[in-house]
Amino acid sequence: MRATSFHKGIHCGASDIVPALDACPICLSSEPREAVFQIQAAPDIAMLKCGRCRGCSASHMPKGDLLARYYAQYYADTELRTTTSDTGYFARHVTAPMSGLVGARPLRILDYGGGDGSVAYAIAKGLLDKSGDCGIHIDVVDFEAPRASGDGRITLQGCKELRDVGGDYDLILASAVLEHVPQVNAVIRTLATLARPGAYFYARTPFMIPLARLIRKFDLTYPAHVHDMGSSFWNRFVQTFELKAETIVSRASLIETTLLEAPARTIAAFVMKLPSHLELAVRRPGPMDPIWTLVGGWEVVLRFKRDR
Ligand SMILES: [Zn+2]
Repeated sequence: MRATSFHKGIHCGASDIVPALDACPICLSSEPREAVFQIQAAPDIAMLKCGRCRGCSASHMPKGDLLARYYAQYYADTELRTTTSDTGYFARHVTAPMSGLVGARPLRILDYGGGDGSVAYAIAKGLLDKSGDCGIHIDVVDFEAPRASGDGRITLQGCKELRDVGGDYDLILASAVLEHVPQVNAVIRTLATLARPGAYFYARTPFMIPLARLIRKFDLTYPAHVHDMGSSFWNRFVQTFELKAETIVSRASLIETTLLEAPARTIAAFVMKLPSHLELAVRRPGPMDPIWTLVGGWEVVLRFKRDR
């Protein structure tokens, strides 16, 4: 798992960004959007909140060549490619609500923006420990090459673009990636078409705007992150995209660091997320707009209907 929250934002010039779009890049609604946070001045770039899908997106999207330069630097910096020390723990956390995932036939996993596919690989290993020899194929969509498989039952294939993948997936992962994609509407719609009936979908995104509004000069890490998708967005997601799916989990995301790696950051994250977990526990089923929003990140598990 890439620690994307450690990116640093940069000030962008007028030639780095495309003109502002009227439509919400997440749901394509053309309703006027409210400015909720200023990312930078000269040129002004703000985060705008969509009244339909409740996601926030940058008013101006970065151009492709700026992103190419930015990510070239990102990939060159090994410190920024820090991975979590425990992909196995994260994998168990992701699959815990997915009781229907094990089966006798070979499974197919799509890891969109999954780096070298380590999280999907750890998930596959965990599933095989439970269910035996069904065989698992993983397609990883990323600029990075996939890791080698150390298990004859697991195959990994790297794809540069979403259009290169096969489809008919049992599990689709989009962990800490949707916030990076300027034209994210097409990606979300494509991911939904690649799921087989009964498939699971896991997503994790930053939910930083409420925190950013409290703390002056908060770095939303633009142009890396161009969207902010929190509880009210994800609790409407199935409805917004008219998916034949149900939301199984919608909660503050897992804390990325451990006490040993980063004690202060880990404790701060725990303290911020705790009220959200308590709220969810006492107000089940979760309301569309939970009260506590200072959590930094959100995650969901959906399951597509079997008869769609
Ligand atoms: Zn929208």
